Amino acid sequence: MAEIQSDINTLLAWYKKAGRILPWRSYWPDLTPAYPVFLSEFMLQQTGVSTVIPYFRNFLERWPTINDLADASIDDVTAAWAGLGYYARARNMHKSAQIISNAGGIFPQTVAELSKLPGIGPYTAGAIAAFAFDKPSIVIDGNIERIIARYFSLKTPLPALKSTLPPYYQKMIPKRNRSDFPQALMDLGNEICTTISPACTHCPLSQGCLSAKTENQALLPNRLVKQTKPTRKGQIFILRHKTGDAPEYLVYRRPAKGLLGGLIAFPSQGWDDKRQGFDPNWRPFKADWVEVKPVIRHVFTHFKAEIKVFVSQVETTNSKNWDDAFQPNNETNNEQQDMPEFEWISEADLHLPKLMEKALQATTHY
Ligand code: SF4
Repeated sequence: MAEIQSDINTLLAWYKKAGRILPWRSYWPDLTPAYPVFLSEFMLQQTGVSTVIPYFRNFLERWPTINDLADASIDDVTAAWAGLGYYARARNMHKSAQIISNAGGIFPQTVAELSKLPGIGPYTAGAIAAFAFDKPSIVIDGNIERIIARYFSLKTPLPALKSTLPPYYQKMIPKRNRSDFPQALMDLGNEICTTISPACTHCPLSQGCLSAKTENQALLPNRLVKQTKPTRKGQIFILRHKTGDAPEYLVYRRPAKGLLGGLIAFPSQGWDDKRQGFDPNWRPFKADWVEVKPVIRHVFTHFKAEIKVFVSQVETTNSKNWDDAFQPNNETNNEQQDMPEFEWISEADLHLPKLMEKALQATTHY
């Protein structure tokens, strides 16, 4: 427990420095007044942050208080909402504003009371209680779900995982600074503990994170891929060089027939041939390869792939050097012994299939 709270303190310090500046957000000890939280949470229920910002500003300018919003006509409110979609949210927001206004314009502060208002479910109620009133309420969105699953290395598959998360979340809630806490987790999920490439070496939770210790981050949360699909293991090798501002990558076009046929790819081994599995001796070129952690995961129609990614940075773009250094040392793999034609392509011109794109994203911090 002490270790968890020490990690949370580090998280909150990180958030003070790296958290997003959003028009409805204040940093503890300041709390955002309930009305802007209420507005923004209704808008964010099914819409992304960047779309919501101009709508939020417009609503706050036209109807600066909950009473102003309650007094507005529903037609004006829905007209101002146009473009955000899911109009039931606008109607519920307006009805809730009227109920709060009729109660003297005072917002309820508990999750139980907030949840009685139209359009406010447990998540939105938890968010308003935490952000506006510093309550220790449960606020678990997709980002936070992923972080908790990884931090405690929870292997229960989704969707059953969801109902098991609140007690773990409660263990993480700090005694002070509770309004910042869920927002810090959300930003961490956006920036560091991302779905595809968690950057554990930069993560303020890394001391106590069980997934970081056991290196199963990329497998969590467990999405329960159909058990009938076998798992193939393999490796992808990303060679880059940097002249000027933009890096270039060494790639080749895969044979027209077969997996990812005719597409641009990085050299790889194991996942796409008959002799599947990590082969620690297989390297496409002589280079100082650095293993990227954790492994990445991808689901094909007939199998799942677990891929180790390696990256190396080189000074020269002389492709002849790389041709000479090609080492097809997997003797049983005849397909790999045909020399593919490699070329350097800048990042802007790389049009990669999803698996290769995931591998490239995983190297962002290397
Ligand atoms: S250490 Fe890694 S897996 Fe754990 S929370 Fe941080 S980024 Fe996510």
